[in-house]
Amino acid sequence: MTLMKEASSGRVPQSIERVARKEGIDPAKLARLVAAGRVVIPGNVRREGLDPAGIGEMLAVKVNVNLGTSQNLDSAEVEVEKALAASEAGADAVMDLSTGGDLDLVRKKILAAVKVPLGTVPIYQAAVKQELTSQGMFDALERHARDGVDFVTVHAGVNKISLERLRQDPRLMGLVSRGGSLTMKYIADTGEENPYYQEFDYLLEIAREYELTLSLGDGLRPGCIEDASDRAKYMEFIMLGELVKRARAAGVQAMVEGPGHVPADEIETSVRAMKHLTGGAPLYLLGPLVTDVAPGYDHITAAMGGVIAGMAGADFLCATTPSEHLDLPNREDVIEGTYVTRIAAHAADLTRPGVRERARSWDLQMSRARAALDWDGQFQAAINPARAKQIRHRRGLETDTCTMCSELCAIRLAKEAMEKERDKDPKRA
Ligand code: SF4
Repeated sequence: MTLMKEASSGRVPQSIERVARKEGIDPAKLARLVAAGRVVIPGNVRREGLDPAGIGEMLAVKVNVNLGTSQNLDSAEVEVEKALAASEAGADAVMDLSTGGDLDLVRKKILAAVKVPLGTVPIYQAAVKQELTSQGMFDALERHARDGVDFVTVHAGVNKISLERLRQDPRLMGLVSRGGSLTMKYIADTGEENPYYQEFDYLLEIAREYELTLSLGDGLRPGCIEDASDRAKYMEFIMLGELVKRARAAGVQAMVEGPGHVPADEIETSVRAMKHLTGGAPLYLLGPLVTDVAPGYDHITAAMGGVIAGMAGADFLCATTPSEHLDLPNREDVIEGTYVTRIAAHAADLTRPGVRERARSWDLQMSRARAALDWDGQFQAAINPARAKQIRHRRGLETDTCTMCSELCAIRLAKEAMEKERDKDPKRA
């Protein structure tokens, strides 16, 4: 019985119990959200040592970090190091998007190294092996499922129907999703429909067997501000909404992926429309990047969009690194991208129903330490204590304030002034 079916039967499986404990939510309530498909808890039946994470309504916004070899840089060890670094920096999930070297080896090594859920994009392996056929795509998917992968991106919404909208309403950048463009190539080369769409019931059978969560890919996501919010994107979402419904009926957990590059004033509409069209499925966003002009800073442009999206209902943010659009991220890029995306997720949590109070208690911890000029307390509350400590101590000066205002420390001056007032008039104490 799948997790969704078990939750629907009124039972509270162990993975739901564990996630409920971490999130501070009633397990029975979480089970109802899983049963309704509004929360997913990816966890392949073959995965060992998984620390499960819940993604969706009433839960904290989660962060995924993409890793993986390329055809130029194909070291499995380097990708494992990145996976561990992401995990240590607080990533809730990682995705292995490898396209270079021994893909099976990289995937297995990452699975063995981390406890967070692992996602993949099986069509990459079919393409790398020159097996971009229906058989090749399903073989790759099943191979990943057998290895214990917890969630897979399948671009089932890229099909003849949605591509027709792209033809009628051309874009500046066409498709920027690798999986989306491979699917488009398959359709163009063969004249056949996308196998993951055409044989979606077969895909659901595999997913059911391994408790594989589907991440319905946003293959038509806009790759630049000029292309944001067009008909092709919305047509894909209509298709994804239909597929979510079929997945739920089959007891298969499904989330949906969203764009991309979106101007700030279109993000809320976009998120609400995606949630509406998919029946409240957990929403996994790639960005959204709020401008195209900041290569080198795209972890920041994505975080800005991530906060707005999280406030509007997005549940899962894919970390963007400073090397986005420029180069394969290195370990430092991954760490930076993970922290910046976690900050965006937390900023959204401060406004998010069901999560707000817990999120605010973290900020309160920091505020109290700041008000008391308690530096150890501030380091403890910092999202990245090592970075805060390094900056605080980099000049080697020891002071109870900091070098920003030194003797003119506003916090200390105001505190002393208030104490003086109280001494003059003890009734105010
Ligand atoms: S010196 Fe200025 S910046 Fe530093 S803690 Fe005091 S008020 Fe804040």
